[in-house]
Amino acid sequence: MGAVSKQVSACRSCCWTDFGELDSGGTLSEVTGTHEVAGSSDHTELIDTFGRVHTDLRISVTDRCNFRCTYCMPEEGLEWLDRSDILSFEEIERVVSVLVDQAGLKSVRLTGGEPTIRARLPLLVERIASLRTPAGEKLDLSMTTNGATLPLVADDLFAAGLRRMNVSLDTLDRARFLDLTKRDELDRVLVGIDAAVAAGFSPVKVNAVLMRGINHDEVVDFLRMGREKNVTVRFIEFMPLDAQGEWSDKRVVSHAEILAAASEHFEFEAIDRGSSPAERFVYTDGDGSPGSEFGVIASVSEPFCGSCDRMRLTADGQLRNCLFALGHVDLMSVLRGGGSDEDLVAAVAGEVHKKWAGHAIGQVHFIRPSKSMSQLGG
Ligand code: SAM
Ligand code: SF4
Repeated sequence: MGAVSKQVSACRSCCWTDFGELDSGGTLSEVTGTHEVAGSSDHTELIDTFGRVHTDLRISVTDRCNFRCTYCMPEEGLEWLDRSDILSFEEIERVVSVLVDQAGLKSVRLTGGEPTIRARLPLLVERIASLRTPAGEKLDLSMTTNGATLPLVADDLFAAGLRRMNVSLDTLDRARFLDLTKRDELDRVLVGIDAAVAAGFSPVKVNAVLMRGINHDEVVDFLRMGREKNVTVRFIEFMPLDAQGEWSDKRVVSHAEILAAASEHFEFEAIDRGSSPAERFVYTDGDGSPGSEFGVIASVSEPFCGSCDRMRLTADGQLRNCLFALGHVDLMSVLRGGGSDEDLVAAVAGEVHKKWAGHAIGQVHFIRPSKSMSQLGG
């Protein structure tokens, strides 16, 4: 093949030609330029104006949830999407497969709402797990779950091809758990974590959102649990995406505080984080297993926006270029309106091109998105 047609909004492969500012009134083919790149592979790079190449898609498979975590969802009053307004498995598979074939997508995380309450989820996993990149590689496929249904579904998900699992758990105290999630299910989540390890998932990561005045004193308990269950614990800073709008920077427990608490009980050292959003630490007495490591995701105090490669697809088909994006492109209408594969790629590329430098939490121009984490797909 000689010169291949490459749809990009600005060429960073050879000449940095700028195809101009996006015009929200323009057509899809107008917002993504077409460029001839001699000898390059025949796919579009999902690249933004800061040179960040996007290879990771977080897919919310449902907006519904069996928990009501106070930092994520209101206890009552959130209207569920109509079933017919949710992407079908075929539609999700089409988006993933087109982006893998034509736009360099390499990793997919299934999330929600609570992904495991979507009926027949293993079928979707099987479809996505069977896809291959143009180079013949498997996708890096993972899932984030609250863990409560894992005792029932972990084996099926593993058999379907899922290999990496993150379980969200914010407290090891039963009364606090009930307070935080409005469900008395701590024991089931702990059994769920064991079920994921027993099914063969590796690594299993347990993500805890720390909030001052609620669970900030549980750092050491979580680290002990991680070592005991052989899972990687990661502490996540509280973000202003709670449905109640109660977030305040005073509630954020910073990575410095987390490390100070950890160092009173354990010896550890930092290791290369690679492309991980988490700062990674290994215990000096560790053996390289998942439980010998923990992490801190300091999305607020030390944002990693500069190396962000993520896009998000909501359950109703909105493609967002950031958790904090205020806009989106509606892939559902492309999918159901007879759009071609090229239209899909162009829509995604156009939205990625608009991505901001960073989320700007704590700055005067920060605007909270109107949707909560459960609606965006965290
Ligand atoms: N239901 C699944 C779960 O809880 O893992 C997946 C969806 S949940 C929205 C994804 C992740 O978002 C969870 O790890 C949860 O702790 C996190 N999350 C929700 N609201 C958050 C907030 N305001 N700040 C930080 N993380 C949040
Ligand atoms: Fe549900 Fe996950 Fe949100 Fe909790 S964090 S309410 S489990 S979507």
